[in-house]
Amino acid sequence: MSKLLLSSMPVYDCSWLDDDSTISGDKKTNKYTPFFEPVVNTFGDGGYSPHVSYHYNPVVSRYHYGVRHPMKPFRCMLTDHLVIGYKLYEQMDLYMPRAATRKELLEFHSEDYIKFLESVTPENAHKYGEQLTKFNINDDNPVFQGMYDYCKLYAGASLDASRKLVSGMSDIAINWSGGLHHAKKYAPSGFCYVNDIVLAALNLLRVFPRVLYIDIDLHHGDGVQEAFYLTDRVMTVSFHKYDGWFFPATGNYDETGIGSGKHFALNVPLRDGIDDESYVRLFKSIMEKVITKFQPSVIIQQCGADSLGHDRLGGFNLNIKAHGECVKFIKSFGIPMLCVGGGGYTPRNVSRLWCYETSVMTNMHLRSELPGNLPFRSFFGPDYSLHPELGGKIKNKNTREYLENIRCHALENLRYLDSAPSVSMQEIPPDIQNMDDDEEDAIVSRLNKESERDHYMNEQRYWISAKEDAGPGELLE
Ligand SMILES: [Zn+2]
Repeated sequence: MSKLLLSSMPVYDCSWLDDDSTISGDKKTNKYTPFFEPVVNTFGDGGYSPHVSYHYNPVVSRYHYGVRHPMKPFRCMLTDHLVIGYKLYEQMDLYMPRAATRKELLEFHSEDYIKFLESVTPENAHKYGEQLTKFNINDDNPVFQGMYDYCKLYAGASLDASRKLVSGMSDIAINWSGGLHHAKKYAPSGFCYVNDIVLAALNLLRVFPRVLYIDIDLHHGDGVQEAFYLTDRVMTVSFHKYDGWFFPATGNYDETGIGSGKHFALNVPLRDGIDDESYVRLFKSIMEKVITKFQPSVIIQQCGADSLGHDRLGGFNLNIKAHGECVKFIKSFGIPMLCVGGGGYTPRNVSRLWCYETSVMTNMHLRSELPGNLPFRSFFGPDYSLHPELGGKIKNKNTREYLENIRCHALENLRYLDSAPSVSMQEIPPDIQNMDDDEEDAIVSRLNKESERDHYMNEQRYWISAKEDAGPGELLE
């Protein structure tokens, strides 16, 4: 029986792209003018052409945290429109991942927490009393309609992506709906309910000796760091804003791991307003040493977009190209990579960034002018560009001395990693999908039901009505 189920189904209907109105010119030229062109020798990576897969279930974009909540899952839909608009789907394997199973979530999360997530609803939440406090339900982490299904979808996509790396079918696997790095074993935190990164890392550890986790979200990647704080098989590196108060108020340079994990957590705390040049230079100088010393067999790159300038919750001044330059640098090492999203609260810029980073992964150069017949194109005005100016809004409080001091702390920590840690590999479990046969059979029969398949295959990919369904201010900030 096929192990890959829906995951192998082609789901993209891109016929609307053949509409000749996209670019001006004669009809024949229109039809064959590409939106992108291959990048030639600009990556400095010896012509590395990875096999890239894109894991996206459009249903994940339909959930709402609440009208005033800054986390907008529809940013993944905007990203997908851009990826399709630029025809990047021609450069990747496309998968619509299944939801994670309960058993898969329990690989990291506690039984009582998952039980809570699957049973609480906005209607019955009042009956949970003190449990709401125990499970950290508050304005940041509200109970919303379909919350558990949403969690299973974004976690399922990261697991699906990790399986493509494990099987060697992909060199780079992308899940922009994932990257929810704050979630804890027992509770949600910072808009994150289940930790898809930890789940994917655990799956990767079944076959890869060493996993390097890199986090360039505005916030400290505390949930992932905490999960692997005691082990030398996962090294976590996080670049983030830190002042002792800013959420989650962890991630100072002196958090370096405990026991066997000592020196395998690295934190780069930054002040407000860091600019492109300082960030990229610091990132490259530290990450080159990390990769050389740790010698990861696989990398998880968290691409949180709230480190961009002009982010609704942001504090940095990064432009899209600078953020992408960091990802490009990591890609240039040619190590298998799982690429996930994360924070990012100005949806038009989140989607621009993740589309641009998809082009980086696929070695494509995109023209800056956005495709003409993009759904929701009005979101991207007035410039309608992939690269609006995002720098300079916030005063840069990172002095040269401060950055040099931070860099020295980081490199000092790396001195202790004299050689890559040796690991005794566990026996690879016979079923790397972590499902027993009964569970798999149930999923296969459910997904193969004609009605269900029709539902997915006829999925309205471009549900303009999403805008109409939204509450005031939900889609337009
Ligand atoms: Zn963040």
